[in-house]
Amino acid sequence: MIKALIQGLSITLKHFFQKPITLRYPQQKRTPYARFRGVQRLEKDPEGRPKCVACNLCATVCPAQAIRIEPAEDEEHRKYPGVFVIDLGRCIFCGLCEQACPKEAIRMTEDYELAVYKKEDMLYDKEHLLR
Ligand code: SF4
Ligand code: SF4
Repeated sequence: MIKALIQGLSITLKHFFQKPITLRYPQQKRTPYARFRGVQRLEKDPEGRPKCVACNLCATVCPAQAIRIEPAEDEEHRKYPGVFVIDLGRCIFCGLCEQACPKEAIRMTEDYELAVYKKEDMLYDKEHLLR
């Protein structure tokens, strides 16, 4: 009994002086791994316009059917997404949308902070994704 008690205390003492592995989130944040896939971002061209040409490839390839795009056209007959919404409540962060895009217009970022209070807040629209 005494032997087991001493063994237990020695383990406690050993870990007491070691550097803790837990982080004080959200003050401290873990650096994601290099290939981590977080929230998507829509890229802009040098003129500040969305690179996306609303070709719908990302929405077609998405296995979770999480992307909704409504194409529009500007005065130069250039197509752009009038509506571009990703439902992050459905997204499985597979990265297929990024791989399918011919314009490198959509990127997976390292952002993993997705906690929201309302389900509707999981819908990320174009303005949100371009930020
Ligand atoms: S990461 Fe995968 S599931 Fe999420 S929007 Fe892109 S293709 Fe769809
Ligand atoms: S993000 Fe890329 S694949 Fe998706 S609609 Fe825009 S250009 Fe097409």
